[in-house]
Amino acid sequence: MSKGNFLHELTGSMSEGAAGNPTVAMIEAAFAHHGLHWRYINMEVTPRDLAAAVRGAKAMGFRGFNCSLPHKVAVIPHLDGLGESAAVMGAVNCVVRRCEEFIGENTDGKGFLKSLESVINPKGKSVVLFGAGGAARAIAVELGLAGVKRITIVNRSEPRGAELVGLLRDKLELDAAFVAWSGDHAIPAETDIVINGTSIGLYAPEARLALDLSTLKPGMVAADVVFNPVRTRFLDDAAARGCRAIDGLGMLVNQGIVGVRYWTGVTPDAAVMRKALESAMGL
Ligand code: NDP
Repeated sequence: MSKGNFLHELTGSMSEGAAGNPTVAMIEAAFAHHGLHWRYINMEVTPRDLAAAVRGAKAMGFRGFNCSLPHKVAVIPHLDGLGESAAVMGAVNCVVRRCEEFIGENTDGKGFLKSLESVINPKGKSVVLFGAGGAARAIAVELGLAGVKRITIVNRSEPRGAELVGLLRDKLELDAAFVAWSGDHAIPAETDIVINGTSIGLYAPEARLALDLSTLKPGMVAADVVFNPVRTRFLDDAAARGCRAIDGLGMLVNQGIVGVRYWTGVTPDAAVMRKALESAMGL
């Protein structure tokens, strides 16, 4: 194994150790399955050491790394350039060495899009997206780049929601609207895709998304970013009303696939990665 085949994941001090990290298990399963002599290792990096860690990764020939909170925005000044969606959203979760330059990408939204495309082509579709945090922001930008017709951001905090809508309008010239979330939100009948981009439901199978379930119609697509539990109450409720449900595990697997492809040039086997992820998560 050459030193050039190392990747790493820069995480904040709140991260799990490598041993129990499902992402590590998923990526390394892909390497093993495809006979790639690479390693993906988890390292905790404090904000103070971020610049030195990126310089070190470059000096040691790392082919790239993932970074999670709190480094997604702070890492940008330490990189040589940004991919299209990362530049629009101003956040990076995946760094790729290209021609000796470290380029920042954002694979969260790309992973979501790939998962969504297994069920529906978002081009020309109308979307209601709950949430305006990091995941929702990545999804909204990627959906905008994929050519959705209209996107409505429904968020509890008005400044955050309005800021995202401003970004979608200004940078992507998208037909975007903000609705402050209070009470059970009614989904307009012309909606094609409804997405929970909030953390509601994470580790909380009974948690309820405040939406008027009677406005969910058969044929709509319902997607969740929450991946634990895999089947959230929102997805169960939507499926019971005839919607096609997409779980958050698909997004997680697909962002891993995009990362491995960026780093190695190999498109890894999705089934192998999902199985490794499920096993590491004890599912
Ligand atoms: P953030 O903290 O950046 O954003 C959280 C969002 O959820 C905000 O819009 C927040 O609203 C909203 N929210 C949280 N609690 C409530 C509540 N009680 N009522 C109304 N709104 C609420 O988190 P992220 O965007 O980074 O992550 C969101 C979820 O996405 C997490 O569950 C995470 O695990 C998941 N995720 C999944 C990925 C995957 O691959 N499947 C990848 C990345 C994230 P407000 O602005 O008002 O605070």
